[in-house]
Amino acid sequence: MLWNCPHCQLGISPKTIKSERIPAEGNRRAMRCPHCNNEVEMNVHPSEYWQVVIPVLGLFALWGASRNSSTASMVVAALVVGGGLAATLYIKTKILGRWQRFRAPASQP
Ligand SMILES: [Zn+2]
Repeated sequence: MLWNCPHCQLGISPKTIKSERIPAEGNRRAMRCPHCNNEVEMNVHPSEYWQVVIPVLGLFALWGASRNSSTASMVVAALVVGGGLAATLYIKTKILGRWQRFRAPASQP
């Protein structure tokens, strides 16, 4: 994940990013780069949702296995959890490794 500003390319961290209300636009919250003060917004990759969905599926599989403790359901649960871990690691390193965390807001004049 690349945490640099889309305007000035300098690094932003969750601690240094500035957040402020804009009274002229219905008090919406705007995030600003601490270096160049330009507005940035979160750039969420579609696969980031899978990083939430996959662990939930794993929990369901474990819950199912704990209710009927057959060997087959244990194996299925282990496969879902193991496969889910591999998939989230793959998403983190291959897909999100060079993904920009912030982008310039599209509506900016
Ligand atoms: Zn900047």
